[in-house]
Amino acid sequence: MHRRLLTADEVFDGKQLWSRAVIVLDEQGYVESFIPHADAQQRRAAEYFSGLLCPGFINVHCHSELAYLKDQIPRGTGLVDFILTLMDIRHSAAFSAKTKFQAIARADELMYQAGIVAVGDIVNTTDSLPVKQSTSLYYHHFVECMGVPDAIADARWEQAQQLLSQWTRQTAFPASLTPHAPYSVSDTLFQRLAHQSQTLISFHNQESAAENEWFLSGQGELQRLYDALQIAPHAAAACGTTSLQHVLPFFSRANQQVILVHNTFTPATDIQWATQSFPGQLYWCLCPKANLYIEQQLPPVEPLLAYAADRIVIGTDSLASNDSLSVLEELKCLQQHFPFLALENLLRWATWNGARALQCDSWLGSFTPGKKPGVVHISAIQDQRLTPASQSQRIA
Ligand SMILES: [Zn+2]
Repeated sequence: MHRRLLTADEVFDGKQLWSRAVIVLDEQGYVESFIPHADAQQRRAAEYFSGLLCPGFINVHCHSELAYLKDQIPRGTGLVDFILTLMDIRHSAAFSAKTKFQAIARADELMYQAGIVAVGDIVNTTDSLPVKQSTSLYYHHFVECMGVPDAIADARWEQAQQLLSQWTRQTAFPASLTPHAPYSVSDTLFQRLAHQSQTLISFHNQESAAENEWFLSGQGELQRLYDALQIAPHAAAACGTTSLQHVLPFFSRANQQVILVHNTFTPATDIQWATQSFPGQLYWCLCPKANLYIEQQLPPVEPLLAYAADRIVIGTDSLASNDSLSVLEELKCLQQHFPFLALENLLRWATWNGARALQCDSWLGSFTPGKKPGVVHISAIQDQRLTPASQSQRIA
């Protein structure tokens, strides 16, 4: 490796776009300096890329361990049938340990090549553990915990603790216990998870209309899920608030940080209430392609932009509900469906905001001297917009 000077038609530094910038990397890939207004001589000395350069992407929500389930679950069935199919096939003998390992290793490699540098990865097993022992990416593992009714909270807590200790003992990465979702975790278990010493939490939030319906009225599609799984339903049925208003108050410590994932059916009133009641604690993760895959819906971008623009982050979800684990493809999807979104906003969500959400912003997320954020080249940019032909590639 040698010292490198890099430039492009546009350079996004993590916060904003510059049209004549040069990035200077030292021999190890650390940012030595960032020159926002480079002169002609500095630009000539730099390697030029057509299009845009930005820091490495942060994929805030992923389930890399489900990589072997690509194209296995039908699209557009709604969340309840998606979950039932997933539970039915994920432990099928049709998928050998070798098949799983190869799919996960491939997903890890493709994420790297497409510009992802850090991943918030949900784990329910140790299937991806061997891959994490030799990966080039940074991971935060969220060991998922679920269970209703309240009576099984102790048993589920113990199980999750054991899985957590495997992850913390056998990899170099941080890990925390995290609830799956408000409808699948009893209040007792939610409370225990909220009181652990780890302060970074991430849960699936309002991913279906049925979730709010259950908490508001005790009716709807979730009854079918509980019946099919032959489990007692969540006891907060008809508690009279939305699911988010029911569970967020468990996170009463101001140093706790909660990443809310999907938010597909979060009403604007909940977004306003949550951002005002938990200032500085929340991140809102958008996984639009998975939402289209499962529910054929998109998240409420307008109210999120109004109340929490500097707290929006991007996730790919899993290959069980997506055809790729590409942050750029999520941004293209958002720009296509919400044409008013500026490229600067989208890139900030995918880099700087994501790094803060996963607490890796001291070395990732921006071209700040001393950091080693990786450099991504995005091609086929037109008038500061992504085009269908835009592709992302890691170049440093
Ligand atoms: Zn998920």
